[in-house]
Amino acid sequence: MSAEELARIRADFAVLDQQVNGHPLVYLDSGATSQKPRQVLDVEREYYERHNSAVHRGAHTLAALATEAFEDARATVARFVGARENEIVWTSNATEALNLLAYSFSNASLGRGGEASARFRLTEGDEIVVTEQEHHANLIPWQELAARTGATLRFIPVDDTGALALDDLESIITERAKIVAFTHVSNVLGSINPVDVLVARSRAVGAYVVLDACQSVPHMAIDFAALDVDFAAFSGHKMLAPTGIGVLYGRSELLDAMPPFLTGGSMITTVTMEKADYLPAPQRFEAGTQRVSQAIALAAAADYLSAIGMDRIESHEAALGARLAQGLAAIEGVRLLGPAAGTERVGIASFDIGGIHSHDVGQFLDDRGIAVRVGHHCAQPLHRRLGITSSTRASAYVYSTEAEVDVFLAGVADTITFFG
Ligand code: PLP
Repeated sequence: MSAEELARIRADFAVLDQQVNGHPLVYLDSGATSQKPRQVLDVEREYYERHNSAVHRGAHTLAALATEAFEDARATVARFVGARENEIVWTSNATEALNLLAYSFSNASLGRGGEASARFRLTEGDEIVVTEQEHHANLIPWQELAARTGATLRFIPVDDTGALALDDLESIITERAKIVAFTHVSNVLGSINPVDVLVARSRAVGAYVVLDACQSVPHMAIDFAALDVDFAAFSGHKMLAPTGIGVLYGRSELLDAMPPFLTGGSMITTVTMEKADYLPAPQRFEAGTQRVSQAIALAAAADYLSAIGMDRIESHEAALGARLAQGLAAIEGVRLLGPAAGTERVGIASFDIGGIHSHDVGQFLDDRGIAVRVGHHCAQPLHRRLGITSSTRASAYVYSTEAEVDVFLAGVADTITFFG
């Protein structure tokens, strides 16, 4: 990406053009949440100024316009991730998407949904497999599902570098596995997991594959159909859209057979005082008044990213990730987590400085206007396995620059001098 193009992109993000604590803001916390360009904010504002209405109800013109925009947004987001429209369920974020899925498996296990949902039933003896890398959002819902159904939770461990240890895959993902849930890209390490290997083994034993795509969909071209996963989840706020919108992707023949999680208005065909019949997916999973402005803004974000080109965004971030990793590895006293500098990673790099708590690192950097994430990044088991309780994470995005990475690296070096 040329310097001119990057400058043009940055001009779309008003928030980046400010001083924090007397220094130009260096925002390296996009893995937690991204900034939003004016094109996305404008779309949301225009919706409220011109079309605001409840969707899928009402005979008036604004309701029809809002419904059209809402469903067009679904089509845009579906195209963005290689899905069909009815395979995109709106949720408030990835956490809700994964919980929705786990609760639908629960309801199927209770016999809800009749014979159509029998294939989703879990019971004692069944297994759910996750990995030791997971964000809590892709771990706790499965722990809870196991507790509710009597199934057993197993996990693929990581090695000393945090990479998935796949040698014993066949003894971990066995014929007893019903669900295999794993992250595409580690939110701590920036490493990219081999989806094909995990899908192949899951298919061989007939388990459903759930992909946590929170850190991949915003940063690389993704095609869920080509990846051959059954379900996937991601959040809009990590890909230039507002908070309050996320997606559960599911293969349509699966979603149509699953019992819903939330029930109420807008997801039914007929209701009597005794029972209700449900609409097909995605509406059966979208009870209540919908998040229309957020969905439209997410589609605008997908269009913004597509116009730049996901492949170009991926290589821009890979270059920044490499610069982050190499720079950190070269600072004495820094332990870079995850893949060694010089090997493949996205624009994420986490590190530990022995003897200096990550909160102190974060505070020192913030004094210079540098925003990073500190703590366990919702991945306590992974940190525990790596022998630490917390780390500092820098995460770049489409608007991040090499100059920002260099300011950050100088800040880390000075942190060690200051506290050392
Ligand atoms: N999974 C991964 C890998 C993440 O990085 C995150 C967010 O940090 C989540 C899940 C949860 O996303 P949200 O908090 O938007 O639901």
